[in-house]
Amino acid sequence: MNTILEPTSPKAEAQNTSQNIRREMGADRICVLTFDRANSSANLFDEQTLHELDRHLDWIAAPPGPAGVILYSAKPSIFIAGADLHALMDAAKRGGLRPVIELGQRVFSRLASLPIPTVAAIHGACAGGGYEVSLACDYRVASPDEATRIGLPETQLGILPGWGGCSRLPRLIGLPAALKVILKGSLFSPRQALKYGMIDALAPRERLLDLAKRKIAGGKPHRPSRRLTNNRAVARAIATGLRPLLSRKTRGHYPAQTMALETVSQGVSLPLDGALALEREAILKLAGSEVCRNLVGLFFLQERARKSGVSDSPGRVLSDAAVIGAGVMGSAITQWLTSRGMPVLLRDIDAERVGHGMANIARLYEAGTRRHKFTSLQARNGLDRVSPIIEEAPLRRADLVIEAAVEKMAVKKEIFARLEAVCDPRAILATNTSALSISEIASGLADPGRVIGLHFFNPVHRMKLVEVVAGERTDPAVIQTAVRFVRQVGKLPVIVRDSPGFLVNRILIPYLVEAGNLFESGARVKDVDEAMLDFGMPMGPLRLLDEVGLDVATDVAETLSSKFSRIRVPAALEKMRDAGFLGRKNGLGFYDYKTRVNIGNARLSPFRKNALARDLSREELQKRMVFLMINEAVRCLEEKVVAAPEDVDFGMVMGSGFAPFRGGPLRYADSVGAVQLVAGMDALGVAGDPKFLPCELLRTMAGRGSKFYENES
Ligand code: NAD
Repeated sequence: MNTILEPTSPKAEAQNTSQNIRREMGADRICVLTFDRANSSANLFDEQTLHELDRHLDWIAAPPGPAGVILYSAKPSIFIAGADLHALMDAAKRGGLRPVIELGQRVFSRLASLPIPTVAAIHGACAGGGYEVSLACDYRVASPDEATRIGLPETQLGILPGWGGCSRLPRLIGLPAALKVILKGSLFSPRQALKYGMIDALAPRERLLDLAKRKIAGGKPHRPSRRLTNNRAVARAIATGLRPLLSRKTRGHYPAQTMALETVSQGVSLPLDGALALEREAILKLAGSEVCRNLVGLFFLQERARKSGVSDSPGRVLSDAAVIGAGVMGSAITQWLTSRGMPVLLRDIDAERVGHGMANIARLYEAGTRRHKFTSLQARNGLDRVSPIIEEAPLRRADLVIEAAVEKMAVKKEIFARLEAVCDPRAILATNTSALSISEIASGLADPGRVIGLHFFNPVHRMKLVEVVAGERTDPAVIQTAVRFVRQVGKLPVIVRDSPGFLVNRILIPYLVEAGNLFESGARVKDVDEAMLDFGMPMGPLRLLDEVGLDVATDVAETLSSKFSRIRVPAALEKMRDAGFLGRKNGLGFYDYKTRVNIGNARLSPFRKNALARDLSREELQKRMVFLMINEAVRCLEEKVVAAPEDVDFGMVMGSGFAPFRGGPLRYADSVGAVQLVAGMDALGVAGDPKFLPCELLRTMAGRGSKFYENES
């Protein structure tokens, strides 16, 4: 590794034999520990790596010892991505987690107590244990690179930072900022991390080691005391203020957040050893809980979607796109693709609509810049990659066209017929339809093999999932290329069979329709939405209808209703749409977005039919809506809309925000039990509402006492 430090004297230390961390020391007597996990693109902490680091610390601590230590990584886009979660979960399952947590704390504390200056030189992902080892250093310097992301995401996985993060971060940046970082569990851009004080300085990757050496030359740091915020009285006041906010946000479903608040705020006024003991006991309590297992399981499913799921053949790279339709979705997809470096031709039927689309794209870039997702220059470059057009121009350069026009089969068929005439014959023709048949859209084309569904979710910049929908005649190579494209633009693909509503809308629509039914039958808007917020959904169903738009939602619901007689779109939704209650897009729906207050019963009462559901408890409302989602999720598996229960759960959490701590509808079904579900559904179904009757697969499973995830305890 000449690029790091060249041993310059014959006495310079020879390469050591460790597998994951290389040690080198040059004439300046600065020791560089380079993390480079064998046979892996990522650096992770497992027991072996912790022991290796410990042995390096033996060498460093022995006289004469180096003048300073730098932690560095040889990987192109990862510093240290955190703990090896597979190993951690295995240890938790075996009841052997305590020694691993103790080992990490002991080794990092040894690093922290070295008498010489230490620096973490961070380029690439620096998350969880990776940032905790950096916190045990005297300084942290980082590259301002896109790949560099820094933070403590443990609470997102149902645990908390247990290798010193809960104790050292508040001592470095003060309790209020540390709580923000730990409770949110986000990874920050280098500039944000600098602003919070999580790192000390930035330098381009090539100059990171020079900067680290300059820090070492300056000796140990003198940090400001944090006595003003990190004392017992202030910590208690901060915790008292945050507790109700947190419980409103988590509704008691995410114990890691609550425990992190208590651990961090109590730990700041204890001696460091006492604080470390607190965080150790807290993580041991959390790890291995059902919530933690579900959240970590979802993390693994995301990793799987990033890497595998289709055969190893990579598919061709798409580099030029056209988007047809500059509405809510077309403009948002255009913004996303251009932010990822793709030039996009954006077309709509007239200048006004294209103008609206461009304004929306500019708004999304502005919001992203405010949230530090892009610099102003990146936003300007992104916007420059959009070419708006209104006439039907030849689209010969595009190797991918995404149609996002209105949800009407006739319109889509006409657009595809024209696309075939004006596009390069090798271009992939994709549709963002929510529920229409891909095979039917493709049916009039000379080459239906090039047509595929690429179903992005709203809001595009936040929802990671894209359903890749293969029609009956879609060419397998087109599927490969589409999957590759989805990953290339930073989204997560799930391959779905071409059937009405695909996966997510198929499950979501019966639920939204039921919310509409309950509203029509007198249930209060607030009760319907609160019932599902209590269940753990990120947004109530009636508010979601407003977000999607009542016009779009009723179109999709009608498509599904024409295929499945059990789904009957309530007249209330159509009446609201016809009366101009379209939802957020025009400021009025179940909620009033102009005054930001609930609309109140009087204005909505013309859309109601009766008062049968008015007195249902929130539990009753919740049960009805949840049963319909579970039943439909099981049907998707029964009909092989996707290949496995994991796909159903992954799709629903990533595509609809289905209560992540429950792990997805099928994991939730396992936790309740098929017998109980069937009994509950039968009770409603037999009482007169057959749409609740459980599907065959669920009945069979109840009969056999089986589960969707059989091999797990
Ligand atoms: P929208 O009404 O906001 O936009 C549709 C746009 O298509 C309009 O600007 C319209 O002028 C344009 N258009 C109509 N005919 C056209 C043509 N022949 N050529 C070019 N442009 C044409 O609708 P939207 O919400 O963006 O939905 C677009 C598609 O995406 C639909 O198929 C919808 O089902 C799907 N979708 C919507 C959502 C959502 O939440 N809104 C989510 C996922 C998928």
